[in-house]
Amino acid sequence: MKNAEIIAVGSELLLGQIVNTNARFISRQLAELGINVYFHTVVGDNPDRLLSAIKTAEERANIIIFTGGLGPTKDDLTKETIARHLGKNLVMDQDALESIELYFTRTNRVMTENNRKQALVLEGSHILPNDHGMAPGMVLETKGNTYMLLPGPPKEMEPMFRQYGCMALAAKDVAKEKIVSRVLRFFGIGEAALETEIMDIIDAQSNPTIAPLAGDGEVTLRLTAKHVDENVAQSMLDEVEKAISQRVGQFIYGYDDTSLLAELTRVLKERNLTITAAESLTGGLFQKEITSIAGVSSVYKGGVVCYSNEVKHKILHVAQETLDNDGSVSEQCAFELAENVSGLLAADIGVSFTGVAGPDELEGKPVGTVYIGIAIKGRPTVVEMLTLGGTREAIRNRAVKYGCYFILR
Ligand code: ATP
Ligand code: MG
Repeated sequence: MKNAEIIAVGSELLLGQIVNTNARFISRQLAELGINVYFHTVVGDNPDRLLSAIKTAEERANIIIFTGGLGPTKDDLTKETIARHLGKNLVMDQDALESIELYFTRTNRVMTENNRKQALVLEGSHILPNDHGMAPGMVLETKGNTYMLLPGPPKEMEPMFRQYGCMALAAKDVAKEKIVSRVLRFFGIGEAALETEIMDIIDAQSNPTIAPLAGDGEVTLRLTAKHVDENVAQSMLDEVEKAISQRVGQFIYGYDDTSLLAELTRVLKERNLTITAAESLTGGLFQKEITSIAGVSSVYKGGVVCYSNEVKHKILHVAQETLDNDGSVSEQCAFELAENVSGLLAADIGVSFTGVAGPDELEGKPVGTVYIGIAIKGRPTVVEMLTLGGTREAIRNRAVKYGCYFILR
């Protein structure tokens, strides 16, 4: 069976100056073609180490895809190293040379001798034209392996792969399996707790696979299924999702690339509801985030940043006794803020955030104490109290997410 390894060449990658987005792009494309990728390798602009990476790849893959190092400069050595290793000559490709010359005339620049080097290709290879730059890509079939060389710049590599590279590989005797995946997004449950709840399901599965990932106070599960029939693969995903939902479905808030705020806005639009916010702890973060979603004006009314007690009292009419007796970080204050802001702006939903983001405690309450008030028209107003950990920034970010989560619940 054919399987691929991607070798990204470039010292900038090893120095952490750029991210290896080429490997991600190519891997996704190969998944769509049904080609398994078992390894990603990154190697610097050094011929000896590149050679050793090629030899290793040849032991474990039969499609080897290179990106980077096809340029005109001294440090671009990919072609030369592969040519030497495979005992192939580099020959001038007339079409590639002409298109490089054309590129220079079009951009009014003078071509230098080392630019000619870019038109040198591996003898016997099939050329992948570069419609967005100069260095052509190439595919060489030899010794039972496929070697594909692609330029480093994503602007050149991605269209080249889509337009010409895919075709060169699609014809291969590869597994005709389709790979489909689905991401389940969770909030309100930690990664460890989630894993414990569904450990037996994870352990029992090899197709679909279940991969948890945590970040930003959220946990996701990526379900990936393989089958020759895409519909069958989808129903395999449905089945595992159902099993997972039966255990922890109450924490699932969405699928794939969504976010809590995007879901909240979607639901509000669907139900024709408007929202406003009174933000002390979060200082406008909720409103900044919700307004970053396009087309939100039909649901979001505007709100009040009520950082000081003066604003809480004078604008949002929180009772002076509440501020004096309970304090601004209190259930009662969150309650009044949520009710009063929704009343002030005649919105269907008012959400309030008050708490202690740190670094110092406030009103004798420890860092991480958070009260979120939710006033929804036609329902009794509720206040949720949380104790959040982490930095000031993390506490504020999490509070916003919890706010969305509580409204969606
Ligand atoms: P050029 O003709 O521009 O020199 P090249 O094929 O020689 O192209 P490199 O010199 O290795 O490629 O890289 C050129 C640029 O392409 C890098 O500076 C970087 O911006 C981008 N690049 C290279 N490799 C990658 C990668 N794996 N992922 C994302 N970007 C990359
Ligand atoms: Mg280069």
